[in-house]
Amino acid sequence: MNLDQIKQPFLDRFPGDFSGIPRQRQTPKILFSTTEIAHFDTSELIIFNEKLSEEIGLGTIENEADKDFLNAKILPENVKTYATAYAGHQFGNWAGQLGDGRAIFAGEIENSEGEKTEIQWKGAGATPYSRHADGRAVLRSSVREYLMSEAMHHLGIPTTRALSLSYSGEQVVRDLLYDGNATYEKGAVMTRTAPSFLRFGHFEWISAQNEHTTLQQLTDFTLENYFPEVDRNHPHQYAEFFRIVAEKTADMLVEWFRVGFVHGVMNTDNMSILGLTIDYGPFSFLDEYDLNFTPNTTDLPGRRYAFGNQAKIAQWNLWQLANALFPLIKNESTLEKILNDFNTNFWIKHDEMMARKFGFDRVLPSDGEFFTEAQQFMQDLEIDYTLFFKQLETYTPNVAYKTHFKEVFYSRVTEDHDKKLKDFLNTYRSRLAENTISTTDSLEMMRRTNPKFILRNYLLFECINELNEGKKELLTKLLIALENPYEEIYPEFSLKRPSFYDGQAGCSTLSCSS
Ligand code: AMP
Ligand code: MG
Repeated sequence: MNLDQIKQPFLDRFPGDFSGIPRQRQTPKILFSTTEIAHFDTSELIIFNEKLSEEIGLGTIENEADKDFLNAKILPENVKTYATAYAGHQFGNWAGQLGDGRAIFAGEIENSEGEKTEIQWKGAGATPYSRHADGRAVLRSSVREYLMSEAMHHLGIPTTRALSLSYSGEQVVRDLLYDGNATYEKGAVMTRTAPSFLRFGHFEWISAQNEHTTLQQLTDFTLENYFPEVDRNHPHQYAEFFRIVAEKTADMLVEWFRVGFVHGVMNTDNMSILGLTIDYGPFSFLDEYDLNFTPNTTDLPGRRYAFGNQAKIAQWNLWQLANALFPLIKNESTLEKILNDFNTNFWIKHDEMMARKFGFDRVLPSDGEFFTEAQQFMQDLEIDYTLFFKQLETYTPNVAYKTHFKEVFYSRVTEDHDKKLKDFLNTYRSRLAENTISTTDSLEMMRRTNPKFILRNYLLFECINELNEGKKELLTKLLIALENPYEEIYPEFSLKRPSFYDGQAGCSTLSCSS
């Protein structure tokens, strides 16, 4: 690997703490602190994403030193590690300083096309931002992040990527259910990549302290590196930046709704400035369609981060970013307009996406109502979101609809359900007849929009159990399936969640414990 090509331009650009002291503390007015990795002597590589490594210009594993790097064991001299400071709003409240508590940056690599990618470990040790925690990650949460971020990428959804996963060689204490029964779990460390890991929270952190020079430096750095589309000579360049962030965020949200992804912890510190899905914790794909579903047990009282709430929350988070950027933009009405447009744009794009899911070539004025009714119907009848669209593709009036849709229900199919399904299919067929494209084209559109494979939580749960027993069969199969989500490679993965897993912790609901 080209480890000697890794550089840390961030360290030269911003105010930071170079003391290297690991003690947890407040670090006002600065954007990073240099820090050491834990040096895991007995760590061991489980997965390496060679294709990604080649793409970003890091190349393939050639020697022990490459493995030692990925395993957070020994680093080459040029890799100067650091953790960044950020703040954020958690569950709607200002949380003050947060920061990379268990993420440590190795720096940045450039490929032959001049594209730059940041690399960081997750779980490689404590930093000044670890907030009384250990900076470690368990195998359970690391497998979940590795597989899910790759699954999202292959679904075509903007996301951070996973480069490698290793056993750290340590045992880590975690209280999985927060009930006082802490146990030891296998520790792990992963490396992940993104063009940038900057979050809304970085801007909030600096702005909240009225450090306007650093805020401008940070925004200029962001524009220079990641927003080439913004004209730097334009008097409203910062407003344009905010508009594009809102647009990218809306696009990401539409994609989450397309595949039924629930993030679970949409705090502003978990919002990427590039509109990438970031920080995979208690996430879930929907099994049964449910707008009120939240996978996060910590979120259960208010369901703030429930599936159907996510666009509203994204807008709320953008408000916080608007406040943070205000000293640069200084125009309330511009910011308000962008925030209002977010809502309008989101719904336009959302309806276009829903139309593609159903195989409609365009959105008709009556479709808003059709989509809302379809959502209500899927929710009332406890229908599997992914399997329903899969069956819809192969449905024709000639097939016996009852048998055709039998396996998409989580509840017992009553006579009333049966009637509702029949009525829905009739309405759907007549709406399809409005298409001006051929049936073949419509079906092709549906195939490209509706995944056949989603990484359900129960599959991750089984995969983690297997890995804990030293088996890798399911992991190998899942890695293949998630690379080809629009095909059905393993029919056993195209089944609804087995009833055995209903309500089981780790399968439908999860804690943040990681
Ligand atoms: P999250 O809920 O994962 O977005 O994390 C919120 C904050 O807590 C971030 O600053 C994390 O870096 C920090 N944090 C969470 N878990 C740990 C851990 N095990 N060790 C250190 N810091 C952590
Ligand atoms: Mg986070």
